[in-house]
Amino acid sequence: MHKTTCPLDCFDGCSIIVGDDKVLKGDKEHPITKGFLCHHLNHYHTFERIQNPTFNGQIIPLKDALDILVNKLETSDTSKTLFFKGSGNLGIMQSVTKLFFAKRGSILASGSLCDEAGDAGIVEGRGANLSLSPLHVNQSEVVILWGRNPSVTNSHMLPSLKGKTLIVIDPITIDLAHNAALHVKIKPRSDIYFAMLLSRVAYMEQMEDNDFIEKRCTNFKYFIDFVNGIPMRTLMEKCGTSLNDVGKLLLDTVF
Ligand code: SF4
Repeated sequence: MHKTTCPLDCFDGCSIIVGDDKVLKGDKEHPITKGFLCHHLNHYHTFERIQNPTFNGQIIPLKDALDILVNKLETSDTSKTLFFKGSGNLGIMQSVTKLFFAKRGSILASGSLCDEAGDAGIVEGRGANLSLSPLHVNQSEVVILWGRNPSVTNSHMLPSLKGKTLIVIDPITIDLAHNAALHVKIKPRSDIYFAMLLSRVAYMEQMEDNDFIEKRCTNFKYFIDFVNGIPMRTLMEKCGTSLNDVGKLLLDTVF
């Protein structure tokens, strides 16, 4: 029996037990995996794979590909080599390639373009990049699924949603919308207008968290003046919702 990590690029980071029969099973001891793997990994063997290396558009034997790679590494100036990769899976072995290039004296990037740029933007806008894990969701009473369908992309969150008050904000009627206390069907690509509408009504109803604003928001006045300058009717038309939806969300469901 061996223990490994899911190779897919997913933040659940499942722990996998590989039996002597080579069958993959979810690790029962892992707090998120809880003994089951999602359909993506369970059908991993059916995915199309790159079977052979190619060089300049030609399929070549693996040995030739490795020779080319060794030659490139040996003839390049390590101090001018940038090691850059995407996020990929969350297993510790992910760091092996970085370690290899670090030992060679290459320049290392901090994260990937996607992660680091996103992180910088979130920290700039919210003060901290605090992402939720299914373990945090366990402690919530109300869960808002905004443009997200955990049944497809994050099935390990599903047990954490049991017994919670669900609010779905999505142009599509995802399966969880059927059990939600409220489904706000905004128009596609209108999230920003709906967020502004919620902010405006929340401010009007004096629901803002002044302590949070004090600590985290550097340009709150500018933001709220901007939002207040857009007619409510325009915001509602842009996102295809009504004040009734906003009232239900803010006044009846969340608070
Ligand atoms: S949820 Fe699926 S894809 Fe994600 S880590 Fe677990 S098994 Fe892998």
